[in-house]
Amino acid sequence: MGGVACDRGRLRPALTPTLVVDRDTRLLVFAPHPDDEVLAAGGLIQQVREAGGIVHVVYVTSGDAYIASVKIEEHVANPTTRDYRDYGQQRESEARTAMRTLGVGAWSLTFLGFPNAGLNRLMSTYWSERQSAYRSPYTRRQRPAQSERFIPDTEYRGEDLTQELAEIIGDFRPTLILVPRSEEQNGDHCATWFFVADALGDVTRVQPRFRTDLVSYIVHYNAWPLENDDPVLKPPDDLDAGVSGWMTVRLTDQQVAAKREAVHKYRSQMNAMGWFLDGFVRRTEVFSRPAPTHVALPIAHSVCDQFEDPPRRTKKP
Ligand SMILES: [Zn+2]
Repeated sequence: MGGVACDRGRLRPALTPTLVVDRDTRLLVFAPHPDDEVLAAGGLIQQVREAGGIVHVVYVTSGDAYIASVKIEEHVANPTTRDYRDYGQQRESEARTAMRTLGVGAWSLTFLGFPNAGLNRLMSTYWSERQSAYRSPYTRRQRPAQSERFIPDTEYRGEDLTQELAEIIGDFRPTLILVPRSEEQNGDHCATWFFVADALGDVTRVQPRFRTDLVSYIVHYNAWPLENDDPVLKPPDDLDAGVSGWMTVRLTDQQVAAKREAVHKYRSQMNAMGWFLDGFVRRTEVFSRPAPTHVALPIAHSVCDQFEDPPRRTKKP
């Protein structure tokens, strides 16, 4: 990271109102679903790579519960458990292709396989093993597929997700973390913020000298970013700019073109809502730094529940 300040003899990122990346940058992106990383930060990811830094992306869910898109991709009116699982695999495959376009190989991607449209429930009701694990009404899973369990006994419980995230952060030791804002109007996006913040608390308890630059992005907020088609992406008027003001990252023509190509690799999402995805392909990306907050999960009533998709019944295969 560029811009460093001394903290008890150690260097750490300073709260400058800019994002400067260099060969020492270790960027960790948390994406609630495959495509969020490219929409929010497809340009910044390229800039970290071009500066000689390292990028790693963690997909918390595989986006397997997007019913309208499952129907299109699986050619069915009433998707089965198998259809939802197949669709999740398709989205993971698209993520690998999209990220390869940006120079990020499959070894730099981690799929955690947590329940799409269910993360907010894990913050409160399905937190600990005092309660049976959450079961996705779509995939019927109560735990990630075996190949996607970062910690072997992981199930769909909040404390298990926090533990996995803390382990990933502790291992990777990012200098820069990208995470959705808590105000995002999507249950999984909102919950991802809380889980990452909770996990960061765990990491700093174990490694008190660990420092990172926590930066947030936006994907779902009212009609944003489609209110205008200005080539420069402006932040929503009614969202605060955080502790260091809005930070704008300017992309080169080549980076814009590569971002567009990566976005278009998400074929399933382009088929369902290409107009929305294309709205993020502009000359700039915007980020902000949240004010220091103490998040300790679980919480009795998840603020993210208001953005939860209504539960739907699925047919057993
Ligand atoms: Zn998303």
